[in-house]
Amino acid sequence: MSKVLETRLEIDLKALEYNFNFLKSNLSPKTKMMGVVKAFAYGTDSIIIGKQLVKLGAEHLAVAYIEEGVRLREAGVQVPILVFYPQLEEIHNLIDYQLTPSVYTHRFLEGLCKELPHHEVNEIGIHLKINTGLNRLGFELTELDSILNHLEVEPKIKVAGVFSHLAASGNTNEIEFTKAQINKFTEAKTFFETHLEYNFLCHICNSSGILNFPEAEFDMVRAGIALYGYGNNPTEHKLLKAVASLKTVIAQLRTIEKGESVGYERKFKAEHTTKIATLPLGYADGISRIFGNGKARVLVNGKKAPIIGNVCMDTLMVDVTGIDCKEGDEVEVFGKNNTVIDFDIEQQTIPYEVITRISQRVTRVLV
Ligand SMILES: *Cc1c(COP(=O)(O)O)cnc(C)c1O
Repeated sequence: MSKVLETRLEIDLKALEYNFNFLKSNLSPKTKMMGVVKAFAYGTDSIIIGKQLVKLGAEHLAVAYIEEGVRLREAGVQVPILVFYPQLEEIHNLIDYQLTPSVYTHRFLEGLCKELPHHEVNEIGIHLKINTGLNRLGFELTELDSILNHLEVEPKIKVAGVFSHLAASGNTNEIEFTKAQINKFTEAKTFFETHLEYNFLCHICNSSGILNFPEAEFDMVRAGIALYGYGNNPTEHKLLKAVASLKTVIAQLRTIEKGESVGYERKFKAEHTTKIATLPLGYADGISRIFGNGKARVLVNGKKAPIIGNVCMDTLMVDVTGIDCKEGDEVEVFGKNNTVIDFDIEQQTIPYEVITRISQRVTRVLV
């Protein structure tokens, strides 16, 4: 087996289907689903996942960058694709590939107005992003009039959607804050309904929004992390199935005696005779050093084996004392049977970060 196949990220489309249908079952039948496939579909594969989501019934997809949308179009994806963070430098591609920009500043609207005359398009749909409390990207409620004025300059630009993003939809301590965000968003929605003569889509819910604020479905929801099998708290998480499983094999086994150490800086010191397995993946593959020194346990022949010592660039060591195993045996680092949620890494990272960090040198394999 070559190195690339030893360490691989397995993608389970049945799990994706399960999560998709589960989210759908939480929604009114007329609510549209936007599948978020930014960052290589949360570290998996945006083409495979994007196409499958469309097959499953996702009416829209979303990415962060224009380039990510272009790749989907070149792979034959035809549904509307919302670009959360379009760059002005790439705006020609946005138009040529019929991508939908999220628009949150006048500066972008100006750029769009300047670029449109260079293309043979009659109309371009945009989704206006409204800041309701995340304070990241978005127009303020006080700017709504000025947006309308700006839009009058270029009748080819149509508001296809109005949306906002929730800051803490998975946090039960922040329910009042989330409800205030939803109220502010409703104000913006009403404003545009009053002033525009055509229909547009309203959306605010991310994954946790879908699960916790069904009253805020509006016309569409934007599902990301839940499609990949993770929630923002253990309750949400139990409802879903992991799509990606990071697998590898045991590269070498050795037994060390009391007092011997393992790895750089000698962070692990054996307190008794200890059997150690070396696995061919490390921080260059996306396994952060925060997983080292006992914080995460991988699955070896059905048993949990803690990562010991510091994670290296291309390798890490696990304690397999008492586990029946041999060189070449398969290991699940995390995934279907060994979830990231169970790792002792709270406060330090979140499933979003763990799964999106699996580096591109790890081969993606469909199972
Ligand atoms: C990433 C993202 C989402 C998806 O959020 P999840 O919590 O992964 O469901 C939705 N909307 C916006 C604007 C995003 O950036």
